[in-house]
Amino acid sequence: MESHEIIDIGVNLAHRSFHSDRKEVIARAIAAGVRTMIITGTSLATSETAIRIARESPNRLFATAGVHPHDSRNCTDETVTELRRLAASDAVVAIGECGLDFNRDFSPRPLQEKWFEAQIALAEELQMPLFLHERDAHLRFCEILKRSRKSVPAVIHCFTGTREELRAYLDMGLHIGITGWICDERRGLHLRELVKEIPLDRLMIETDAPFLTPRNMSMKPKDSRNEPAFLTHVLKTLADCLGKPSAFVALETTRTATEFFRIGSQRPRKKS
Ligand SMILES: [Zn+2]
Repeated sequence: MESHEIIDIGVNLAHRSFHSDRKEVIARAIAAGVRTMIITGTSLATSETAIRIARESPNRLFATAGVHPHDSRNCTDETVTELRRLAASDAVVAIGECGLDFNRDFSPRPLQEKWFEAQIALAEELQMPLFLHERDAHLRFCEILKRSRKSVPAVIHCFTGTREELRAYLDMGLHIGITGWICDERRGLHLRELVKEIPLDRLMIETDAPFLTPRNMSMKPKDSRNEPAFLTHVLKTLADCLGKPSAFVALETTRTATEFFRIGSQRPRKKS
């Protein structure tokens, strides 16, 4: 497969499944053309780990700082203070992963909503982009986001929703992250049509590794763990769906991600 420079905007390199071979995983990703990776923080602990990993490869690895809705039941009043401290790191390019997950309901919904709103407020205070998770919570998610988000850009990561949901997100000015879900011949079919409706300046790609291994890979990994090198499969499938060359889609999604996360440019932040 020819390699194009691409950016994985959501990879859980702080996940325990990468503990023993993270350096090799990163090296394989770079060899495959994934020149930049944004490591997802899903709790205070994984956000800290994500930042530590990112600091080992400045300008190539970056991190988000946030608490996933699954973890919102563990939030306290200190959590936002801690996230604010973590977000001051040069490695941090977004607040999140945060949002609502009414599919698993691992945390009570009122707590999910409270800490989602608090993280939107933090992103606004720091003028940083939002990295968002939404599952089976579209209407409530939109209500909270409309009420609390004012000016910061935001991306719905791992979008798998309906046409109506996509239209609503695009109308709200959101960016859309597409994962290997699109490579799934059972569940991803509707997404293959929908991606044509996403403007290229709002479209980015991600693996969400170690989750969501692309199902259309001819050589599947033995342990079925996804890794950032497999972003090339997401790119290829997406390009096929759009009827465009991979090189073109690589260029466009890389440009969009570079601008969205302000990679390689000074990131002016509001000091309060
Ligand atoms: Zn997520």
